Amino acid sequence: MGDNVNTNGDVRMKASQSISMLDCPNCDKVTEMIVLSRYECLSKDDPFPCRYTLMRCTKCMHPVLMLQERFDEYVGWDEPYRLYPPLPKPTHWATPGTVCNAYSEATACLKGKAYTATAIMCRKTIECVCKENGASGKDLKQRIQALKDKGVIEQNLFEWADALRMLGNDAAHEPETSFNKQDALDMLEFTDALLGYIYTFKERFNQFMTRRSKSKANSK
Ligand SMILES: [Zn+2]
Repeated sequence: MGDNVNTNGDVRMKASQSISMLDCPNCDKVTEMIVLSRYECLSKDDPFPCRYTLMRCTKCMHPVLMLQERFDEYVGWDEPYRLYPPLPKPTHWATPGTVCNAYSEATACLKGKAYTATAIMCRKTIECVCKENGASGKDLKQRIQALKDKGVIEQNLFEWADALRMLGNDAAHEPETSFNKQDALDMLEFTDALLGYIYTFKERFNQFMTRRSKSKANSK
């Protein structure tokens, strides 16, 4: 792999190497990607084969791994889906629409390098969570407290939500405060974890426990 890279980091193409134009998550723009390796999973039992393609950006040298599936032999491979670096996780299907919209907007702000706006939208996502759960109070601080009092979140998540609220306040009202990419990314991930807890794992855990107790009762 190293033999086709010169000391300037440029890449000398080999005639056999194939090139794709793709959105590089590290450069945040469409760049030339060299295909380093391909692996096709073709099993007789599997009606939908898949293909993994490992690529490298010719600008920043970062690796990207894509997955494609083939649902129809005659149509060919479908649109590639990025496995690495992982795409921001979509919020769970049980997440209410208003919460999803605020969260999606926060994600879009990050993608557009609007980091302070990401912080504001993370705060708004928490606002929406309070509203959806009927947590009331004169300000967001009180509404987050109500969220905890109602048992929607516990102490640790209360602290996360409250920290997101304060950072969102600073983003909106403090001209001196600035947010970099890492701050925005962290805020988005904490927000996502909160949504995951409230709308995904609580429900899944309840379903899991119900299933277990049913199977225990049946085995008696
Ligand atoms: Zn790149």
